[in-house]
Amino acid sequence: MTVKTFIFNPVQENTYLVFDETLEAVIIDAGCVFENEYRQIDGFIEYNKLKIKHLLNTHLHFDHILGNKYIADKYGVLPEAHAGDELMIASLESTLRSLGINLSVQGQPIGRYLTETDTVKFGNAQFKILHVPGHSQGSLCFYNEKDGILFSGDTLFRGTVGRTDLPAGDHNTLITNIQQKLMLLPDRTVVYPGHGATTTIGEERKSNPYL
Ligand SMILES: [Zn+2]
Ligand SMILES: [Zn+2]
Repeated sequence: MTVKTFIFNPVQENTYLVFDETLEAVIIDAGCVFENEYRQIDGFIEYNKLKIKHLLNTHLHFDHILGNKYIADKYGVLPEAHAGDELMIASLESTLRSLGINLSVQGQPIGRYLTETDTVKFGNAQFKILHVPGHSQGSLCFYNEKDGILFSGDTLFRGTVGRTDLPAGDHNTLITNIQQKLMLLPDRTVVYPGHGATTTIGEERKSNPYL
């Protein structure tokens, strides 16, 4: 499994493009919003002849969904996300305005609701869905057991955890979920967060001051 990382939009969000030897691919958290960002992701997909099978969202904060409409229109895949954050799509434009971010982007409705009983399949690979509310009610992590890879969204970062001062955030819920759902994964699991550098479950178990 190959993971390509793009850093997009004014808040430096990690957009991941994940594919295997079949060249079937998933996009996780399409944050692209500028012309040059569209060109970057389109160019990579075209050059590598990838076939986009899923558009996944770890959660629906504005920085993780800015590119959803563009990707949906271009590749014919609709966002797959937990229902818990759905209201954030309709409020995308007003959220941007209230943050003083001058971008004109339309929200893209969810096409498939994900819960923990679902699996996301592409090529010869699959993701298990972990529901980890705390940073937001609908926060998900995507786990590939075979390769030991976790996409943690804004739930777990290198050396820290997600902020919970936003509406619907709850710190105790976040920590409990990280402990009960993420910290039982093997130490070698590589964690790809929504912002910043990768880490491993083992490293966070040892040195994350919140855990
Ligand atoms: Zn977030
Ligand atoms: Zn974020």
